[in-house]
Amino acid sequence: MKISPSQSWRLKDTLYVLSLGKCKRCGNVFYPYQPLCSVCGSMDIEKIRSKGTGTLIEYTILYQNRDGFEKQVPITAGLIKLDEGIELVAPLTDVEITELKEGVRVEAVLRKVRSDSSNGIIQYGLKFRVINDAGNN
Ligand SMILES: [Zn+2]
Repeated sequence: MKISPSQSWRLKDTLYVLSLGKCKRCGNVFYPYQPLCSVCGSMDIEKIRSKGTGTLIEYTILYQNRDGFEKQVPITAGLIKLDEGIELVAPLTDVEITELKEGVRVEAVLRKVRSDSSNGIIQYGLKFRVINDAGNN
């Protein structure tokens, strides 16, 4: 995905923080934030910021990537259940395969996603890492 500075700015609540939507009418919580509840159709949506912590449900290793990201393989991707109850798929970082198992605690961190784009932009994004009991690096 090529991304321009203006797109990066418009998508900042999705790319750099986990902004969730919470419907004030029915209580539905969802990600990414959007100004419309998919359950009840209400547009009375509160934007809340996820704590960025959750639990790993499952993971997989990808050996192919989309155009422009071919150099970044393999990728370890996890199905994560945030503490707010939302499930999402996100890349994992700073992990050893041996520490990945169902139920391990993870947290979102900002990491470089790409630095070789044709427009010279260094792209950052959210990835998840395992929370070690002894505190993180
Ligand atoms: Zn709703």
